Amino acid sequence: MAQENGKVRNRNSGSQSHSVLRFIFHVAIVLFLTLLTQIGGIAYLIALAISRLWAVRRFWLRAALFLFVYVGLTFATGLIAPIFGRVSLPCLASDANKLVVRSPIYCAFNRNYVTPQVGELAYALAEEMDKEFPGTTTVALDANFPFLSGFPLLPHLTHADGRKIDFAYYYKDADGSFLDGVTRSPIGYFAFEQPAASDEQRCKGRNDWLTGRWDLKAIQPLFPDYRLEEQRMVAAIHWLTTEGVTRFAVEKIFLEPHLTNKLGITDDHVRFQGCRAARHDDHLHVQVQ
Ligand SMILES: [Zn+2]
Repeated sequence: MAQENGKVRNRNSGSQSHSVLRFIFHVAIVLFLTLLTQIGGIAYLIALAISRLWAVRRFWLRAALFLFVYVGLTFATGLIAPIFGRVSLPCLASDANKLVVRSPIYCAFNRNYVTPQVGELAYALAEEMDKEFPGTTTVALDANFPFLSGFPLLPHLTHADGRKIDFAYYYKDADGSFLDGVTRSPIGYFAFEQPAASDEQRCKGRNDWLTGRWDLKAIQPLFPDYRLEEQRMVAAIHWLTTEGVTRFAVEKIFLEPHLTNKLGITDDHVRFQGCRAARHDDHLHVQVQ
């Protein structure tokens, strides 16, 4: 009898630790999805509740249910976000629209939201660039999440209020031909322009252990050997620091000093972000007041 009781107790504590593990697993997934997409964690909880209610046991059915809820919430977000002061940037390019987010994945993860003011700034920049250099697409990268000020779009700690947006650089191939809508890195980030030894390098020799400044040396050889299309780069930055400032209240633009020097930019809206923030020689960070 005592032996029987022991067995029951063992079985109980086994199923208890199993449910604790399952709870931790769900919390980790909710956290991960929330940090990655903002609404993904909520979609997961809704899907979990429905699958409990309907006693859905198969993994692929549960996964499909999550996807269904997530896609539905993502569409609804596009409609609801403007009420909370955020609009989405376009996910696909067209002849009429010369502004596009680098990849539909940015949209699928809800990383393409900005304040209406930043939205107008992005469209106006794209229009200006296409007017000055016909056939030019302007590519936006990470923007902000659709809801809540103060909720950062990781790994960008400051992209938390709708007022920040990153743009991809304009590139040309080794022969000097402009590459429209093309970036060196498939996601637009991490293909760094390497400074020459004689260039200004304010972070050289520092060894910060807590830093967002990653060099990612191992992946650099994977990116194609495209060059910066300097004319378009200069024109875009010039427009941002003139019309961008007067019409859309551009506050600052982050660029590494070696690029600022190379492009001959002297406007003081263009700044160095500091050594603890991410490198800014792979993309252009713009923020408005
Ligand atoms: Zn940024």
